[in-house]
Amino acid sequence: KTNEYIENLVIGSGYGGAVAALRLTQAGKKVVMLEMGLDWEKEGGKYKPFSNLITPKNNSTWLRKSTQAPMMNISRFNKKFTGVLDRMDFENVKVYAGRGVGGGSLVNGGMAVQPKKQYFKEIFPDLDVEEFWKTYFPLAQKELDVNQISDKYYNDTPYYKFARVGESEARKAGFKTIRVPNVYSFDYMKKEEAGKVPKSALAKEVIYGNNHGKQSLEKTYLKKALTTGLLSIHDLHQVDYFQQTEKGYAVYVNVLNTEGEVVEKKTINCKKLFLNAGSLGTTKLLLASKFKGKMNNFDPSLGEYWGNNGNVMTGRNMVNTLFNRVENEATDSNFRPGTGVKQSTIPVSGIDNWEDEKHSFFAEISPLPMGMEVYTALYLIINKVPTPGSISYNPKINDIIVNWEKKNYKHTVKNAKYFIKKMNKANGGTPSGLLWKGGYGPDICYHPLGGAVLGKTTDLYGRVKGYENLYITDGALVPASIGVNPFLTITAVAEYCMDEIIKSDYQQC
Ligand code: FAD
Repeated sequence: KTNEYIENLVIGSGYGGAVAALRLTQAGKKVVMLEMGLDWEKEGGKYKPFSNLITPKNNSTWLRKSTQAPMMNISRFNKKFTGVLDRMDFENVKVYAGRGVGGGSLVNGGMAVQPKKQYFKEIFPDLDVEEFWKTYFPLAQKELDVNQISDKYYNDTPYYKFARVGESEARKAGFKTIRVPNVYSFDYMKKEEAGKVPKSALAKEVIYGNNHGKQSLEKTYLKKALTTGLLSIHDLHQVDYFQQTEKGYAVYVNVLNTEGEVVEKKTINCKKLFLNAGSLGTTKLLLASKFKGKMNNFDPSLGEYWGNNGNVMTGRNMVNTLFNRVENEATDSNFRPGTGVKQSTIPVSGIDNWEDEKHSFFAEISPLPMGMEVYTALYLIINKVPTPGSISYNPKINDIIVNWEKKNYKHTVKNAKYFIKKMNKANGGTPSGLLWKGGYGPDICYHPLGGAVLGKTTDLYGRVKGYENLYITDGALVPASIGVNPFLTITAVAEYCMDEIIKSDYQQC
């Protein structure tokens, strides 16, 4: 079935897609957005509430009969559903992604971290770093509704004992700790604790969606774009590939039902096409279109410079750490060992070891809200990726292969081991075998980056080389690692690209 001709088509509704949609609609342009996941707000939120970590329903998981969380208990379902958290499994890496209108913002921890200036320069040598610090990062922070936990609430609430213990232990081991901004509203969280509003972060909701409190994209960028009246979003529209036509691009779409079956096939014709399906999604669309759509003009760098942001998950078993006391605290419960029965799902602190050249890393102090004291400290460590991996396309399965070998991640495990050893030496504890065999999870990726990199596969503003009116403004642009949780950077880079694209590519429209 062939639909009408669309002026501006955006594929994907995560950070890159949301920025593109807002800036285009604000410039008075009509935009159609296609999203393979559900619009979770439609029909009065019919498919919600989102699941918590302990008793997930099938809306937690993208088209599988059991949950795929990195370390929580596995729940099974009778029926597959187009749930909110997906996991794409490759030989040495399992990549998580959000599905639905809002993309990763629906499932992530909300940490809005600005990268180190020096590392940003290293990753993007051709960008004007001062302009980013002056304009695009502050803009992204404002539009995403970033806020910071107050010292008082952080110090007082039992829900952040895990973070206080984490910081205090890290300092004892000689590491520097920092507090990290977030898009979860801390005013809302305080009200949750006071029993004034429904609980979300304090009721173990996060990777399967937050029902309240988080300013995910459907409440910020996408909401603003929709109020212009110029944006229409089609959910359960999964793009297979696209092809160049005389008037732009023909985009081939499978329309899904909530069990993932294809109920309709559509061809949508457009003039300008914005690819924002996330690092793996965008790279897959380009590679599939090269093969199936005979688009042979892409730059040879397509599929290169992919990385997991140096992600490695690790933890410490604290059963034998009898007195991991928190500095300056007096309440009895805080003098007990462990990380606390009550835990907010929203991380707010980290360990900044970036300046240590031999072991450069940033570690997120992560919650592990199991509803009981598990005597386990959890960390998501983020590293440099000096040897990036790559992505190729296998036409037999119409899918991508992520080429990610030991050489790409062995230094991340080294850094994690160094960190755990130092923490245990200062505080007691052992590497946590409870979480992963051997205690380290270098195959868990929350932060896929790259594959169609800025300045290589695209020009310096996200215009795909070799074609006109074809753009990328998402995580595929960032080569392999940014050294901190990435969505603030992805948003800032998208803002910078859209600024130029709207100024220069729409003049005569
Ligand atoms: P995405 O947000 O992934 O958006 C891409 C969208 O495109 C998705 O909605 C997808 O369904 C859609 N799509 C894909 N393929 C197609 C197709 N073929 N057709 C139609 N639609 C398609 N980052 C942080 O900075 N802080 C955090 O605290 C944090 N925590 C995280 C926790 C988890 C569990 C996960 C999974 C990620 C976390 N991240 C975090 C990472 C962050 O969410 C991602 O870096 C970010 O969402 C990437 O933005 P994007 O625009 O590149 O792509």
